[in-house]
Amino acid sequence: MSYSFLRIVREALRGDRGWRPAWRDPAPKPHYDVVVVGGGGHGLATGYYLATEHGLANVAVLEKSWIGSGNAGRNTTIIRSNYLLAGNEPFYEHSMKLWEGLERDLNFNTMVSQRGVLNLFHSDAGRDAAARRGNAMRLHGVDAALLDEAAVRAMLPWLDFDGARFPITGGLLQRRGGTARHDAVVWGYARAADRRGVDIVQNCEVTGIRIAGGRVQGVETTRGFIGAAKVGLACAGNSSRVAALAGLRLPIESHVLQAFVSEAVKPLIDTVLTFGAGHFYISQSDKGGLVFGGDIDGYNSYAQRGNLPIVEDVAEACMALLPLAGRLRVLRSWGGIMDMSMDGSPIIDRTPVAGLYLNAGWCYGGFKATPASGWCFAHTIAHDAPHRLNAAMRLDRFASGALIDERGAGAQPNLH
Ligand SMILES: Cc1cc2nc3c(=O)[nH]c(=O)nc-3n(C[C@H](O)[C@H](O)[C@H](O)COP(=O)(O)OP(=O)(O)OC[C@H]3O[C@@H](n4cnc5c(N)ncnc54)[C@H](O)[C@@H]3O)c2cc1C
Repeated sequence: MSYSFLRIVREALRGDRGWRPAWRDPAPKPHYDVVVVGGGGHGLATGYYLATEHGLANVAVLEKSWIGSGNAGRNTTIIRSNYLLAGNEPFYEHSMKLWEGLERDLNFNTMVSQRGVLNLFHSDAGRDAAARRGNAMRLHGVDAALLDEAAVRAMLPWLDFDGARFPITGGLLQRRGGTARHDAVVWGYARAADRRGVDIVQNCEVTGIRIAGGRVQGVETTRGFIGAAKVGLACAGNSSRVAALAGLRLPIESHVLQAFVSEAVKPLIDTVLTFGAGHFYISQSDKGGLVFGGDIDGYNSYAQRGNLPIVEDVAEACMALLPLAGRLRVLRSWGGIMDMSMDGSPIIDRTPVAGLYLNAGWCYGGFKATPASGWCFAHTIAHDAPHRLNAAMRLDRFASGALIDERGAGAQPNLH
């Protein structure tokens, strides 16, 4: 069933009795050409692009819970392509271009909103770093504008400019950045993949990976063994645990990242704003709530909830940037499990096991990557070789030293 304005009118006239479930609920088949483990945004996008770009429809996406129950449905929905390094920037810009056509492509309203992403800076050194990043973006053909203090004042006059602990001296703006509705991205990819024959199997946890003669044979699951010629892992925060089923030890630590939403207020922030003197980002949802977050919790964890010290840390950063938020009430907070790689950049690659592929290490930033991640992972699986866009995102770079250290922070997950 295609979604359209005419369909809405027709269903309204028929008492909305014609709508069908957006995707099937199939029992798993005994064997697939490709099994993708993880029904988050990346796994579902991989299934979709395997079908649409590579003509592979005998594909299953296996999800241990319900689709979108992981980070895909827990993030702060920021999308952007304002990266510095050549190993990252073309990949994230490809993602941005896919976002720009996604609703038409999927026939689903994913609420992509290009309201801009503004990274503030608060010192001369901060301006130099922002100018360098902006120049690198422009060399890759990506939009970037360096704003001085007056331009930021004109955009967001209620920020704390005068007498602030960290005076705002300007910002780097990517106008094409913004937000998308995270659940809708999951549902849109699921529906579009299902329409092309991909089986989306929920409540199906992968508990083992069967390997014989160095080649993957399939996966053990809570719904029985499922054979597969190729298996792709897209398990985000659980990547280390699932890869361990194949005997792999990943250069990844899992940490909790929390997010917060306030009560709804009148339109206040019409962009995505980040603080340059600490780790803090904020935007306003269409319902009016301010959506914000900050650093990861400092300890390793597989729990989807965080602790109070980070709540305090985020509140402090928020107050340092916009004191007016002090009168707002926080409605909800929640956590997700971050797959923090040691250089802060992702891995999309083959593994030492033939037919087993890895998509992991997304840290804080995998939502914006969802379309390009699925697109590149599908290419890597279908061709048994990476695409040019994910060529640098190799698993062996942590041994060879060819890191993609975007922040120059080294192997310290809390600093990426
Ligand atoms: C609070 C928070 C804020 C964030 N904000 C942003 C942001 O603003 N912008 C941005 O770009 N990124 C953001 N991120 C990061 C982004 O959400 C993730 O990097 C991205 O969603 C990860 O990819 P995914 O959607 O495939 O992951 P997930 O949705 O976590 O998908 C992985 C799936 O694998 C499943 N799984 C795990 N183990 C198994 C198994 N054994 N068998 C079967 N299935 C299994 C899980 O249940 C899960 O559904 C944020 C994350 C959090 C938590």
